[in-house]
Amino acid sequence: MFLVGLSGGIASGKSTVVAVLQELGCAVIDADVIARQVVQPHFPAYQQVVRCFGPEILLESGEINREALGSIIFSQPDKRKLLNSITHPAIVKEMLKQILKYFVLGYRYVILDIPLLFETNSLNKFMKHTVLVYCDPQAQLSRLMQRNGLTQIEAEARITAQMPISQKIKLATHIIDNSGDVATTRRQVLKLHASLEDSLDFLLVRLLAVTAMAGVGGLAYVLLRRLIF
Ligand code: ADP
Repeated sequence: MFLVGLSGGIASGKSTVVAVLQELGCAVIDADVIARQVVQPHFPAYQQVVRCFGPEILLESGEINREALGSIIFSQPDKRKLLNSITHPAIVKEMLKQILKYFVLGYRYVILDIPLLFETNSLNKFMKHTVLVYCDPQAQLSRLMQRNGLTQIEAEARITAQMPISQKIKLATHIIDNSGDVATTRRQVLKLHASLEDSLDFLLVRLLAVTAMAGVGGLAYVLLRRLIF
């Protein structure tokens, strides 16, 4: 099995592409869903967040008020670091659990849907392939305005707050161009899925698991390096 990172700019069509991948039966792990999940009351990170940020960030229901927390970390970079140091390990642990589940189920590849994939180099290096959902700037702007009910100025502010798409293109190994209609995008997703399914990269990890189980540590290490870098 191997990992495929998926990302895109706001309103470039990432959710649209993910919906097609899910329809095809692909294994997709959504980093945003996990980020929300790990701060739910029954998760260990919840207690740590409440201890560090105080009960004033809680809703009456006992859940964390994400908006209140968001505005604290928006204006205070040290608090953002603190929150990340609590949540990131919990997110990675949950992702690894899900990756392992799909590995056991025999999936050839797993897609990690990560909004800041290209911005956070630490995750990027674990991906065998990276996919950028691209959309031309004019279509992106009008789709964002329409979907979120924003004015042109508001939409432009959200787009420019992100890493420029021109920079992300250079970092991606595959591009899905969603500037046209959904049918055209769908065809590109089918093609990508077929090429990933046909790739023999998944054999490396199977071999790695077998060699690790057989106690051939040196060979397992060589394979792991080959897989990641
Ligand atoms: P993202 O997940 O990247 O923010 P979405 O997939 O939600 O983007 O797409 C943004 C908006 O554009 C949505 O309202 C969606 O229905 C619409 N959209 C996506 N792809 C297309 C397309 N190829 N043609 C027309 N509208 C599209």
